[in-house]
Amino acid sequence: MNLSEFARVSLAHLPTPLEHLPRLSEHLGGPDIYVKRDDCTGLATGGNKTRKLEFSMGEALQQGADTIITVGAIQSNHVRQTAAAACKLGMACEVMLEHRVHEPSETYTHSGNVFLDRIFGANLREYPAGTDFVVAMEEVAAEIRSKGGRPYYIPGGASNPVGALGYVGCGIELLEQFAERDLKIDHIVSATGSAGTHAGLVVGLRGSGSDLPILGIGVNAPQIVQEERVYKLAVETAELAGVPDCVVREDIIADCNYIGPGYGVPTESMNEAVLMLARFEGLLFDPVYSGKALAGLIDYIRQGRFTAGQKVVFLHTGGSAGLFAYSDVLTL
Ligand SMILES: *Cc1c(COP(=O)(O)O)cnc(C)c1O
Repeated sequence: MNLSEFARVSLAHLPTPLEHLPRLSEHLGGPDIYVKRDDCTGLATGGNKTRKLEFSMGEALQQGADTIITVGAIQSNHVRQTAAAACKLGMACEVMLEHRVHEPSETYTHSGNVFLDRIFGANLREYPAGTDFVVAMEEVAAEIRSKGGRPYYIPGGASNPVGALGYVGCGIELLEQFAERDLKIDHIVSATGSAGTHAGLVVGLRGSGSDLPILGIGVNAPQIVQEERVYKLAVETAELAGVPDCVVREDIIADCNYIGPGYGVPTESMNEAVLMLARFEGLLFDPVYSGKALAGLIDYIRQGRFTAGQKVVFLHTGGSAGLFAYSDVLTL
């Protein structure tokens, strides 16, 4: 597998660190826990979208675009990283924000990521939940073209095959880090949402001949829907990356039992997980994605599904910029 043939711009600090968490591992009394610090990708407080944007923005530049259009929730980490990347590359950024959370608080609608979107000067347009964003995007694109602009559309989470290449790269990077440090890892755990991270990781590992299991912890959709979404994108990404047929359906596993009442709605186990990682390891996680995924990891350890003697890597996908928007919902 060779990613060098794809258009790409450098946006992320790579490789991101792989760190052992001794105090958390001891506290939970299960496997040795490592964290892959993709919260440290460097762009505008970092996060997983930056790896994907290296390829999405690379393609946008290759096509001669001058305006990026993208979509996300009000507290989207993807939108924040896209807005920053557009600034760095001298492009305009049109953002379609979806009102996905019911009765949001004042801090949710003004603080955290959306505050940073405004600092980056992105043009924010707001839409009700359930909007057909394919249609909405066509309308925005037509408007930009009518003014002489050249739009490029990046879907939510940059989760298409081009964006997922960023996580193919992360999978390869992890295998290199394991080899350098002679680490025998038993499992990788990550949040899974718009699916590009999970799909790309699977392709990066399987396409490199590794059969290391990957557990996705879902944050919005039911299990079957999420697994099908990841599988479909993984198959397309594998084809694009030149390793078709390296992914099988049974290999895509999402556990969606840690979502609670819904996307972005806080849960007790998320609250516990965010405080545990902060107080044992000085690490910040977010309430929507990485906090719920960690709640899953912690529960697996308590249930004895990951045990002493094993080594588990948790992919830290970032999101701490969103913490401030949730200051009134975390119980400290
Ligand atoms: C977007 C996001 C995810 C989910 O990644 P997908 O590629 O959308 O599945 C996880 N964590 C954080 C912090 C995110 O912003």
